[in-house]
Amino acid sequence: MSNTTLMMIKPDALENGHIGNILEKVTSAGFRIKALKLTQLTVNDAESFYRVHKERPFFGELVNFMTRGPIVAAILEKENAVSDFRTLIGSTNPAEAAEGTLRKLYASSMGENAVHGSDSDENAAIEASFYFSQRERF
Ligand code: ATP
Ligand code: MG
Repeated sequence: MSNTTLMMIKPDALENGHIGNILEKVTSAGFRIKALKLTQLTVNDAESFYRVHKERPFFGELVNFMTRGPIVAAILEKENAVSDFRTLIGSTNPAEAAEGTLRKLYASSMGENAVHGSDSDENAAIEASFYFSQRERF
């Protein structure tokens, strides 16, 4: 899985109509879409996906946000996918994100930051399995 990463387009970006723009920027940057779905996380799903943050003060807010509407999940493939995708999305806080990054363009705050990208090859594999069966991957 070292050339793949897991993307989520978060509820705020869907509410604001940015799915098409984000997918266009992702594919223009050289990422190939290997799996793709529109889905909605339950509270259990979101608590499990972000379990590393469960002791953080923003955890409740994060779970509320991530479950309030549908998201897009995708497996993306490219050389150095994890690192290159983190560069494309920009800093967690959109106020600190570089010009042209997805969070600079489409995110409104630290909590509501439009896009997720896996932070390691190991987590990319775990997160891909969270969303997709083998027959949903192409
Ligand atoms: P993601 O995992 O969603 O790609 P990230 O890796 O840039 O984001 P993490 O540190 O993993 O950042 O935090 C996970 C998510 O928790 C952030 O994307 C953001 O939505 C939320 N979050 C992180 N820090 C804060 C904070 N200080 N206040 C509010 N929400 C936060
Ligand atoms: Mg993270």
